[in-house]
Amino acid sequence: MPLVSRADAFAGVDLELEGQDWLKENAATVLDAVVDAIVTMSADGAIQSVNQATEQLFGYAAVELAGQPVTVLMPEPYRSQHQRYVSNYFESGAPRIIGIGRELVAVRKDGVEFPIYLAVSEIPGGEYFVGIIRDLTEQKAAQAALAEQKEQVAQVGRLATMGEMTASIAHEINQPLAAIAMYAQAVQRLLDRSDADLGKIRSAIEKLNVQALRAGDVIERVQRFVQNEAGERQWVDLNQLILDIGQLAQGDARMHGIDLRLERTEQLPEVMCDPVQIQQVLLNQIRNAIDAMFDIDCVHGNQIRVASQLIQGYIQVAVADSGPGVADGDGQVFTAFHTTKPEGMGMGLAICKTILEEHGGEIGYYNNADLEQGRYGAVFFFRIPLDMT
Ligand code: ADP
Repeated sequence: MPLVSRADAFAGVDLELEGQDWLKENAATVLDAVVDAIVTMSADGAIQSVNQATEQLFGYAAVELAGQPVTVLMPEPYRSQHQRYVSNYFESGAPRIIGIGRELVAVRKDGVEFPIYLAVSEIPGGEYFVGIIRDLTEQKAAQAALAEQKEQVAQVGRLATMGEMTASIAHEINQPLAAIAMYAQAVQRLLDRSDADLGKIRSAIEKLNVQALRAGDVIERVQRFVQNEAGERQWVDLNQLILDIGQLAQGDARMHGIDLRLERTEQLPEVMCDPVQIQQVLLNQIRNAIDAMFDIDCVHGNQIRVASQLIQGYIQVAVADSGPGVADGDGQVFTAFHTTKPEGMGMGLAICKTILEEHGGEIGYYNNADLEQGRYGAVFFFRIPLDMT
């Protein structure tokens, strides 16, 4: 630390002033020690000086850059936009990037583009500017890896949910298939007759067609849910989402003797969300409700109610079951790998929590049990804010 030792040597001298003088004398050394790239340029955008980090980051020697327009460090469309930014700054005095800093893309000598954070300041006098450039490559790569990892975990969660529902999905498809076979045989019999009744044949074929579409519909819903890649935020009507997932889960509920009711508040505003992820949350909550009730043979009733509601800046979707409620004192349900089920993974609610947090929303539950009122079970809910800004 030369700054300190020099200051020590001048004991009694104004340390601050001494430090400033030292800095002036050694400015170039200091700039070269900085890990960020620092580029000074004139008002017309010609590079005046660069530090060592700039050479390393961009692959140019300092002499190659001196006098070059600063746009050599930018790929299109930033290159073309740059002059407009500068003119804008001088004409209106309204800084875009100057004094603010923002994320952009830069380009190396070898043509490789990379993400940066750029902050530009005006050096007093207005003739020179200094740009400080931080390489964001690693940070962006880490963010992307994390997002991919989360998506993979969520995908595993979706597949696991579908795995649990396989029996009911097979049942949902087998029913129309059996009906198709039956109508096909009926058509065959009708055709075998000498006085074939075309009207009856047509009607049987129409019914056959309806059943084929029904089976196709189930498969399509499953495919959509399993294959869709998360990540696309869009305006979503949560009522429609409840309907889609309700239909997907209906067969599962029916197989367990459960009555799944969808009670949607009319006229909800749309929310900005990733529909695939929110579908996953809802399906998980419905699946958990089915498990909880089936586990106690539906002794407290066989109804699950899914309800949407607008509450103070949020849309809430709640799944109310009539199971045993969440075990007393169990604050762990959202913790990964926490499960009370013999075959459980304990990942469902943990994934749901991450999804809601990423949406700026909330997830929670309360036990609804009130024996005197004849109420049992748990209510799991999630909330998505209306205003995502
Ligand atoms: P899994 O379903 O694999 O156990 P989850 O993370 O979805 O994983 O759920 C964690 C635990 O939370 C469950 O094992 C259960 O103990 C509890 N739980 C979730 N939903 C309900 C519910 N509706 N009623 C009672 N307990 C529940």
